[in-house]
Amino acid sequence: MITVEDALTQILKEIRPLGLESVTLANSLCRTLGEDIRAARPNPPWDNSAMDGYALRAGDATGAAKDSAVTLDVIYDLPAGSTPKGPVNKGQAVRIMTGAPVPPGADAVVMVELTASLTEGKVDIRGSVRPGDNIRKAGEDFKAGDIVLKKGAYVRPAEIAMLATVGVSYLFVHKRPRVAVLSTGDELVEIGQTPAPGKISNSNGHALAALVAESGAVPVQLGIARDTKESLKEKLSIARSCDCIISSGGVSVGDYDFVKDVLKELGSQMIFWKVSMKPGKPLAFGVIGGVPAFGLPGNPISSMVAFEQFVRPSLLKMSGRGPICRAELNATLTKDVKIKPGRTNFLRGLLTLNDGGASVAPLEGQGSGVISTMVAANCYIIVGMDSTGYAKGAVVKVQPFDPSVFLKVRA
Ligand code: AMP
Ligand code: MG
Repeated sequence: MITVEDALTQILKEIRPLGLESVTLANSLCRTLGEDIRAARPNPPWDNSAMDGYALRAGDATGAAKDSAVTLDVIYDLPAGSTPKGPVNKGQAVRIMTGAPVPPGADAVVMVELTASLTEGKVDIRGSVRPGDNIRKAGEDFKAGDIVLKKGAYVRPAEIAMLATVGVSYLFVHKRPRVAVLSTGDELVEIGQTPAPGKISNSNGHALAALVAESGAVPVQLGIARDTKESLKEKLSIARSCDCIISSGGVSVGDYDFVKDVLKELGSQMIFWKVSMKPGKPLAFGVIGGVPAFGLPGNPISSMVAFEQFVRPSLLKMSGRGPICRAELNATLTKDVKIKPGRTNFLRGLLTLNDGGASVAPLEGQGSGVISTMVAANCYIIVGMDSTGYAKGAVVKVQPFDPSVFLKVRA
């Protein structure tokens, strides 16, 4: 039996980022850049006005104040999208809008709120003006030739803004992993069917497909394999055309647990099949012809915990991501927790972020089949292998898995 940490290290050694594909800008959201992006033009492209107001020579407005106006000649209007009609000479101003290029000769813009236009063709400047005021300098964001986004960057709305600014309409990103999801068990029926006595709904297949999709990968549902080597072999052979295989159930020591055997018979090099964690101990990992295969445990919570700890980081690595593991943070326990030592425990908890920090309630009902506790949870409380638990008030390590922990209710 190996530790969670060693298991992840061994898995990640076998995982490579996938190749690249070209996508449109709109389809690049939540993907990983496969190329450096270089700017052909500077941003801003030219000095431009940050305000609606008047472009002028700051020196012409010396002494201008609320009760002592300096009057200038307004020589033309310069809306955004147009170009200057001529230079601003001594004693002159140009009516300028936000985003319009600063006309030659002008070295400042005074905002309209500090001016008055009482006479046709004239403007009174009623505030002090320094050179450079309200001018966005050419290239202050980036210069022509700069690398504005690096290969490996994760594309968020901010990266989309950058890509659009430099005028990229197609770009290379890492492919999304296609992940075969296989459920195993003679007791399983598909949703929509009423389970006969002795049967249950296949929940893992759907939960795992959702976890795959939430990781930015593409689930390929293979349905249910029966507890025979033939059925498993048939399904797993189809699965080999995907970038990754995950199955649930049939990896324990039961009489019908054939997943490990079948993976081996299909030529899988088995890396390990037991991890010192709770829930999730029976967990097989192997590689079939270059395709990583995870035999996750059958118990619904065990399969989800194992996915979080091992499969998600693997899928993120395949997608080209740099950071791939969920961050951990400290939280104060609201109740005592007792644990049998010997394995790393992942307890379902409810994390609350408040002004002072974070507190976490361990939830009642930690059985590996208790889905209602998973529904109530938004984090795992991680209890180390040698720990027998913690008292209320102790600071513990939690791993939030639900982004809504960062949202708050608005009354
Ligand atoms: P196994 O490891 O195959 O013995 O499965 C362990 C437990 O998980 C058993 O109670 C199974 O019925 C249950 N289980 C296995 N696969 C699924 C599934 N796809 N959906 C829901 N429960 C499952
Ligand atoms: Mg089974």
